[in-house]
Amino acid sequence: MDTAGLKINLTLPADKPNGVIAFTNARIITMEGDQVIERGTVVVEGNVIKSVSADFVIPKGAKEIDCTGKTIMPGIVDAHAHSGNFRYGLSPQKQWQYYANLAYGVTTMHDPSANTEMVFANSELIKSGNMVGPRLFSTGTILYGADGDFKAVINSLEDAKSALRRTKAFGAFSVKSYNQPRRDQRQQVIQAARELGIQVVPEGGSTFYHNLTQVVDGHTTVEHNIPVAPLYKDVTTLWAVTKTHNTPTLIVNYGSVNGEYYWYQNTNVWEKERLLAFTPRAIIDSRSRHRTMIPDEEYQNGHILTSKSLKKLTDAGVKINLGAHGQIQGIGAHWELWMLQQGGMTNLEALRCATLNGAVSLGMDEQIGSLKVGKLADLIILDKNPLEDIRNSEFVKYTMVNGRLYDSATMNEVGNYDRKRTKFYFEMPGSGNGYPYFRETNSFMRPTCCQMD
Ligand SMILES: [Zn+2]
Repeated sequence: MDTAGLKINLTLPADKPNGVIAFTNARIITMEGDQVIERGTVVVEGNVIKSVSADFVIPKGAKEIDCTGKTIMPGIVDAHAHSGNFRYGLSPQKQWQYYANLAYGVTTMHDPSANTEMVFANSELIKSGNMVGPRLFSTGTILYGADGDFKAVINSLEDAKSALRRTKAFGAFSVKSYNQPRRDQRQQVIQAARELGIQVVPEGGSTFYHNLTQVVDGHTTVEHNIPVAPLYKDVTTLWAVTKTHNTPTLIVNYGSVNGEYYWYQNTNVWEKERLLAFTPRAIIDSRSRHRTMIPDEEYQNGHILTSKSLKKLTDAGVKINLGAHGQIQGIGAHWELWMLQQGGMTNLEALRCATLNGAVSLGMDEQIGSLKVGKLADLIILDKNPLEDIRNSEFVKYTMVNGRLYDSATMNEVGNYDRKRTKFYFEMPGSGNGYPYFRETNSFMRPTCCQMD
C-alpha cells in the first residue's frame, strides 16, 4: 500500500552565505575542457561563481584571498561515499566523517548504501545550514535482491515501480540495484527508473558477465571495478557506445588485494595530522601502525593493473568516477585519485574523474564539477600544484562548499565569517578515544572475497 500516506510539510530556506570573495593570483584548473589559467581570479558572490578569469579583479566590497603560489580546482565529488550514514543510537550534531571529507576537499558525497532515515535527515540538515558537511545525496537503503531481512522482491515492472516510488518519496534520485539475481528483474528496475526519473547505480558484484549486461542494459553506472584485468578492445569498444560510467573504487579492488593497503604500506598514515584532527585516533592507529606488508608485485598485478584498464576505458571515451567507499574518510578520496593516476591517466584526467565526471554521473554538471560562471561555489585551494605531482592534491588550504569558506586544517569558517568549530566528542576528556566509532567504521574493512556495499 505504498500509495497511502500522509504528507508532512516542513519548508525551510536553504543555507546561503552573504558577501563577495575574490581569490586572486591563483593557478586555476577549471575542468572546462583542458583549461588551466596560470594566474587569475575567481570571484564568488553568495553561493555562486561570478567570474573566472586571467585578470586581477577585486569587486567593490569583496574580501580578497591572495592565492599566490596556490592552485584552485573544483571540489571533489565522491560518487561512492559511505560516510557513517548508519544510525547507531544518537545522530551527532557534528558528524566527524563529514568534517574529515571537507577538510580534504570533498564537497559532494553520494552514498549508494545508507540508512534511509539518517542519510536524508542529515542531507536536509546540511542543506538548511543546521549541520556542516559536503552536499549529501544517497540511494538510501539498497534495493536488495538476495535473501535477508530487507529483501526487495521484484518480479514485475509494477513491483519495481512500487519500490522506486518509495525511493523517490524519501528524497532519493538514485537507487542501488543490488543482487537482483535475474537479468529481467534488473531490467524491470531500469524501466521503472526511466519512468520515474531515477538513476540506477548497480552493485558490480565481482561478476564480469553480469557487469557487461549492466552496461548494455543502460544502467547509470557500474559500481566497483570489473573483476578481470586487463580489459581489451572488445570490452572498451562495447562500453564506449553507452553512457554508463564506472565508479571503480580501487580502494576496495575486486579480483585482487584492496588498494587501500598500498597506502598503509607506503605511507605513515598515523602521522597525518589533518586526518587525526577529524578522525578518532583509534581508527587510524589500529589500521596503520599494524599494517599488512606484501610484495609490490601484488599491487602491480592488483589495483594498478585494474587502473590500467581504466586508462583504456578513458581513452575509449568511457567516463570514470571517483568513489572512495568510506574506507577512510577524507584522505581516502585522494588515495583513490592517486590510484586512478597510477594506471596511466594524466594528472588532469584523474582530476576530472574526481570532479566533473562524478557531477555528470549524478546529473549535476549544470551546477557543480567545474569552475564556471553561474555554477555553485564548490571549490578547493591547494598549497601545491596537483598537475606537477598528483600527490599534491592532499595539501588543501581552504575548502569552499556552497559559498561557505573553511580553513581546511581547523574547519573554522573564514572569509566573510569568523566561526570557530566546536570540539568533537572524541576531543573531550573521558571520551574513551572514540570506541563506538572504532567498532562501527571497522566493519567497512572486509576481505576482498566478500560482498561490498
Ligand atoms: Zn559501497
